[in-house]
Amino acid sequence: MPSSVYIVGGGVIGLSCAWELSRNGHDVTVVAPTPGRDGASWVAAGMLAPVTEAQFGESALTALLLEGARLWPGFAAALEEASGQAIGYDTTGTVTVALDTSDRASLDDLLAYQHSLGLDAHRRNATECRRLVPALSPALRGGIEVPGDHQVDNRALLGALATACRGAGVTFVEAAVCAVAAGPGLVLADGHRLRPEHVLLAAGTGLPGIAGLEASGLPAVRPVKGHILRLGPPAAGRGAPAPLLERTVRGLVHGRSVYLVPRRDGSVVVGATVEECGDDTAVRAGAVHELLCDARAIVPGIDELELCEAATGMRPATPDNTPCIGWTAMEGVAAAVGHYRNGILLAPLTAAAAVDVLGRRPVSPLVESLAPA
Ligand SMILES: Cc1cc2nc3c(=O)[nH]c(=O)nc-3n(C[C@H](O)[C@H](O)[C@H](O)COP(=O)(O)OP(=O)(O)OC[C@H]3O[C@@H](n4cnc5c(N)ncnc54)[C@H](O)[C@@H]3O)c2cc1C
Repeated sequence: MPSSVYIVGGGVIGLSCAWELSRNGHDVTVVAPTPGRDGASWVAAGMLAPVTEAQFGESALTALLLEGARLWPGFAAALEEASGQAIGYDTTGTVTVALDTSDRASLDDLLAYQHSLGLDAHRRNATECRRLVPALSPALRGGIEVPGDHQVDNRALLGALATACRGAGVTFVEAAVCAVAAGPGLVLADGHRLRPEHVLLAAGTGLPGIAGLEASGLPAVRPVKGHILRLGPPAAGRGAPAPLLERTVRGLVHGRSVYLVPRRDGSVVVGATVEECGDDTAVRAGAVHELLCDARAIVPGIDELELCEAATGMRPATPDNTPCIGWTAMEGVAAAVGHYRNGILLAPLTAAAAVDVLGRRPVSPLVESLAPA
């Protein structure tokens, strides 16, 4: 049943939901200060990595991530067609490598866990890894090849989503929401009051700053800080050098995790720390130093790249690291929040779920399990 929906938040979740809801006949307005240009979605690496993100004890979340990955090919094709913009969706695959023998042992434990879940992952020795990724250091102790973990250029994705939203008739209100009421009602930062038919909360780590949600039944959403770097190809004017990497490389370096995600323009995204430190968004020299050291330990050639950006982002995390999607306990107010480390991967799944929820259609058991209640 089509309706008018106000979406609070213009990150990958808000915009994906806006586009899908609009395509399905809803009258959609996105309320956010700088839609498509901020939040965790702007700084993220863009990995679509259900297998290499699988953590011990989180098999239900892994099942959700796999389902999210399954929707990506169709979503990417439809979005590129609707927006006329390329989003850098790349299915080359991922290799995770180990620097020392202890890292190798940890990767072997991880591989056993991945196999226990039936995931597609293959043990590779150092030579095999270097055949897949010639830029790898000769000092590595081998790794794991994961063909099904892919990536997208998250900034191109946001741009395409904003274009597709406009093309589908979505309205943008560039403002912050300071309060939400059952009914529903919205109060903007300038005091303006709105009475939409439905509200969808997709404000990421901005959620706790919105008043009136005490009775919503939503779990606490906390920020988990991540430092991340963008390295550019050597300066222009020297011809177009061959890209350093053609597939995503993840690594364990003396027990620390690092990843390098190549973009089609030859740049590389290096990330990311995982820090529980409240609202502190400062870029710390020590974290940048550590990321660069770990990245160059597995791919020494990054020394030649230009350091273009050092940034931090806040992952929106719930207590069990699982997103919350569905109606809240407040009449007319739904939510799609708490996507933590995998909001880019889960955007198509979340948008499809939002269409079912807002259209008051039955949802799959997987989506049912994410309901705020
Ligand atoms: C360093 C780092 C690397 C990451 N790498 C990956 C990755 O490789 N793959 C992956 O799948 N995920 C990754 N993630 C996680 C992913 O970025 C997040 O899960 C995802 O971006 C969450 O999207 P969101 O739209 O919910 O939140 P956000 O992107 O944070 O967007 C929130 C939006 O809400 C708006 N907002 C906030 N408060 C208000 C308010 N009061 N009123 C109106 N609007 C408001 C903001 O302005 C923003 O537009 C990474 C995250 C970080 C930090």
